[in-house]
Amino acid sequence: MILFTKMSIVRVLARQIYDSRGNPTVEVDLTTDRGVFRAAVPSGASTGIYEALELRDQDPKVHHGKGVLTAVANINEKIGPALVGKNFQVTDQVAIDNFMLELDGTENKSTLGANAILGVSLAVCKAGAVHRGLPLYKYIAELAGVKKVVLPVPAFNVINGGSHAGNKLAMQEFMILPVGAKTFREAMQIGSEIYHHLKGQIKKRYGLDATAVGDEGGFAPNIQDNKECLELLKNSIAVAGYTDKVVIGMDVAASEFYKDGKYDLDFKNPNSDPSKWLTGDQLADLYRSFIAEYPIVSIEDGFDQDDWDNWSKFKASTSIQLVGDDLTVTNPKRIQTAIERQSCNCLLLKVNQIGSVTESIQASKLSRENGWGVMVSHRSGETEDTFIADLVVGLATGQIKTGAPCRSERLAKYNQILRIEEELGSDAVYAGANFRNPQA
Ligand SMILES: [Mg+2]
Repeated sequence: MILFTKMSIVRVLARQIYDSRGNPTVEVDLTTDRGVFRAAVPSGASTGIYEALELRDQDPKVHHGKGVLTAVANINEKIGPALVGKNFQVTDQVAIDNFMLELDGTENKSTLGANAILGVSLAVCKAGAVHRGLPLYKYIAELAGVKKVVLPVPAFNVINGGSHAGNKLAMQEFMILPVGAKTFREAMQIGSEIYHHLKGQIKKRYGLDATAVGDEGGFAPNIQDNKECLELLKNSIAVAGYTDKVVIGMDVAASEFYKDGKYDLDFKNPNSDPSKWLTGDQLADLYRSFIAEYPIVSIEDGFDQDDWDNWSKFKASTSIQLVGDDLTVTNPKRIQTAIERQSCNCLLLKVNQIGSVTESIQASKLSRENGWGVMVSHRSGETEDTFIADLVVGLATGQIKTGAPCRSERLAKYNQILRIEEELGSDAVYAGANFRNPQA
């Protein structure tokens, strides 16, 4: 007979639910004697080819091949019974994550699926916090060895292009960062006010039907000129009266429009003219012109995920934050290469790119130890799960992007950070202008 301790996992039950785009994703209910702990897994649209494998059923007749019943079965029939059988303490996050990695046995989690492993890993972490008697963000801080938690600067993705929107815009995200706010609450107010001014500006210039929103809640007006977006943002920030408090970030997601060694800013047009495609040098010049004209402090995936030379060349020419997402895919080996080649100076941390809580913490640590910033990120396909809100505070990385202040799967995260700030009271520290290095 197995003797269960009070911290044992009694049951793990997974099911297929739907994400913010209406695609299937994995949800996990993990039961201990303290209750049921639920976690759901996000999913990206612009996925790096080096990401851990998101296991989909691939049956074209069902959910366009996107079902996750195989991943769900892997949890219910393999991972769950194995964890219960091993009688793990739910607070032993590292041992449980490592056990799942061994059970999978592949580098990219393709046996069980990164979506299966992550769902369980997140649920274990939430259960562990309750058994440890700590709020989730403090428990994560403890797991990561972080002494002082920090509230992040929100990077609101208010204009959507790229693979996240049906407009002509090539560059994927235009973000506003209220670094001049004193508190996270004030940052939210600034973001929300600018967002609504932006809506007014777009309506005035492009008409009411241009104010529909993309997958991450940002507007997706049908404009092609990337600079026009920056101009719109600059004006909206000014009209809202926050020019001195707000800076701009971009996620170019350049891998999405890299063709034959060049960059096609008209990639959504099937008849795009190859003579207009830009070389890496020309694209870098375009970025430098943006930086000169607008308060741009952060550019993510400015070049293709394998265009290491252009990454490094550009980094040598600027001091702004250069974020690796498709480049680094939250993978320690890719991060190490980027460190050695001096390609970027900030990690975009996506829990489902790597596939477990323990590895996410390791990726954050590796980046911080090498002087990088770390921006925690949602995915374009999200759920109501708010784990990353606690994660960003607990890891004290100082910055998060989880969409526009619009659509509840995005606001769910921002609202959770508001609650954490309230709970911390006078202990609350907002990263503000130190968002690249808030623990210094
Ligand atoms: Mg990205």
